[in-house]
Amino acid sequence: MFNITEDFGSLVFNDRVMRERLPREIYVSLRKTFRTLAPLDIGVANVVANAMKNWAVEKGVTHFTHWFQPMTGVTAEKHESFLATKSDGRVIMEFSGKELVKGEPDASSFPTGGIRATFEARGYTAWDPTSYAFIKANVLCIPTAFYSYSGEALDKKTPLLRSMMALNKEGRRILKLFGESGDAEVLANVGAEQEYFLVDQSVYDKRPDLIYCGRTLFGSRPPKGQELDDHYFGAIKPRVAAFMQDLDETLWRLGIPSKTKHNEVAPAQHELAAIYETVNIATDHNQLIMEVMKMIAPRHGLACLLHEKPFAGVNGNGKHNNWSISTSAGENLLDPGSTPAENARFLLFLCAVIKAVDEHQDLLRLSVATAANDHRLGANEAPPAIISIFLGEELTDILETIKSGSNYEKKDNAPVRLGVDVLPAFPRDATDRNRTSPFAFTGNKFEFRMVGSSLSISGPNFVLNTIVADALAGFADELEKAKDFNAALQTLVKKTIEKHERIIFNYNNYAEEWVSEAEKRGLLNLLSTPDVLPRFTSEENIALFEKHSVLSRTEIVSRTELLLENYIKTIHIEALTMIDLVHRRIIPAVLSYTSKTLAALNLKQNAAASLDASLETTLAERLSGLSGTLQKDLDNLEDAIMRAADCGETADCAAYYGTEVFYSMQALRGAVDELETIVGSEDWPLPSYAEILYSVK
Ligand code: ADP
Ligand code: MG
Repeated sequence: MFNITEDFGSLVFNDRVMRERLPREIYVSLRKTFRTLAPLDIGVANVVANAMKNWAVEKGVTHFTHWFQPMTGVTAEKHESFLATKSDGRVIMEFSGKELVKGEPDASSFPTGGIRATFEARGYTAWDPTSYAFIKANVLCIPTAFYSYSGEALDKKTPLLRSMMALNKEGRRILKLFGESGDAEVLANVGAEQEYFLVDQSVYDKRPDLIYCGRTLFGSRPPKGQELDDHYFGAIKPRVAAFMQDLDETLWRLGIPSKTKHNEVAPAQHELAAIYETVNIATDHNQLIMEVMKMIAPRHGLACLLHEKPFAGVNGNGKHNNWSISTSAGENLLDPGSTPAENARFLLFLCAVIKAVDEHQDLLRLSVATAANDHRLGANEAPPAIISIFLGEELTDILETIKSGSNYEKKDNAPVRLGVDVLPAFPRDATDRNRTSPFAFTGNKFEFRMVGSSLSISGPNFVLNTIVADALAGFADELEKAKDFNAALQTLVKKTIEKHERIIFNYNNYAEEWVSEAEKRGLLNLLSTPDVLPRFTSEENIALFEKHSVLSRTEIVSRTELLLENYIKTIHIEALTMIDLVHRRIIPAVLSYTSKTLAALNLKQNAAASLDASLETTLAERLSGLSGTLQKDLDNLEDAIMRAADCGETADCAAYYGTEVFYSMQALRGAVDELETIVGSEDWPLPSYAEILYSVK
């Protein structure tokens, strides 16, 4: 029997275990590293490694791995045993500080976006001692960063850790201005809500598109979709409940605070939310959540789909990224608080976020840009590609009174004087009602809703941390010079609201009018990945990331290249899968059904001229017409792929794939989906949407 209080974190080398097993001075030294992200002393590492190994071996573990997050977006591991041979033929179990702290997997097969071409091929992994080691599938996993011989980040973790340092540095400058110069660190916290689909393994196995691409490339709409909203928060089916329980217990053993589970909008769609944690831990944990979901689904005869849009016309999967800033003492800096000083501090941090989001719309948009997420953004289930902030009416009114400096005309609010007045209380749940906003303030945190379900949350969060750190740095520069702090603060907040209020939008983001309104306001509307990714390398963006030591020019250039390549490859694989499926499954099915139809027509005509053969004739005509369209669309797609060979530079090539190849795929899909509606189900080679979406009984 699982006992939650005893078993939670039982597979984690966590603080409790460390305190028990490490000599006091080693423990203290390690804790210090946790707080300051300072490099670990090798003497300390040796002791920690040995304790870690003993703990793991007691649990039957024989291997360890550096667990890292290369740019593939999934995690990677290379298992080594603790085994060491002795001269007398005996073996012992050994694990040194050196092995704990640094590893050297062969980097040559991981994507580096050109860094490898100019630098050494070797890659190193280095322990992130702020993230606990854990046991997964009987292997001791050490969370690590992955970087090149010359120190360039090759992974998703490194820029995140660097952005945390930037946020801490600038956040502390602000706290100091408020007279809070204690030794509390400033941290970002994240709670991610993970959406996913569960379908029966047997239908999954019959869909090569799901297997190779993670999404269906064909499929006409089911007669019943999500129209009735009867799945959302509905009763959970026993098989799904068993999966969820297994998932929770596995995650809890790994110390992952999985908290909420429910059915989502689409049939077969569900959500898991974990309690928020420091952002690098939350990121590691979200990677593990996705990994564990995929891993245990087959135990229940299920397949877990994490793709952003597994089914056209059906709600896709997102991952709401709830983000806040706090002190290491646990004080939430995005909480309005109840005293004038807390209110003023809150408003300053709030303004930093408003400024950051307005100035760096492109970075937030590109932090969620993938071929998969492009299908979802703006598809009436997720925010559009336009970035805006929802603050709620009450808070917007408060900002308005600060801006106007006089009684707000329509309402009877007195202007707020920072550091003197107490903010009027605003009801917190009122702020949570706008579900259409891409970036919504929800009382004491921001919820970034554009993140795709399969994405690592590292990207969106290192962008958030960096842009907010930059805004805070600008504020600190100004306020540190001020003679009258409260007056300067009032001016700064007022100026920031005036300058950036265009980013605030409290209404329906799905409405068509918003697109033209946003354009009037000068907000960006970057629809597809090839539109947005090349902006990563603008001089402003390079300067921003270099200023805060989050990414270097080389790292940004290589990352852009890599993300574009990834986009191209994704669509290329989808196109090839489509072509293969049409040639080897769809065409044979259409031929078979056509010959049955023609045979029936012939039989009838031969039997007696007076028989009504209109059904057979109409069907034969429709099949013949659609087969012609199918052939033409297939030719077009094959041609588009052929021509892709000389599509030029990576950015141009991505644009080519996003238009020419993508549109040809859509056309071909149109023909196939229409055929599906008239070809008999016995002949149709793929399980239908209805069969997939209602496969879990
Ligand atoms: P919702 O109404 O969106 O479901 P919840 O209050 O249930 O909102 O929170 C959703 C997620 O937000 C959870 O992962 C939760 O832990 C996280 N969360 C709550 N407070 C904070 C915070 N201060 N900072 C970051 N994440 C938070
Ligand atoms: Mg939410």
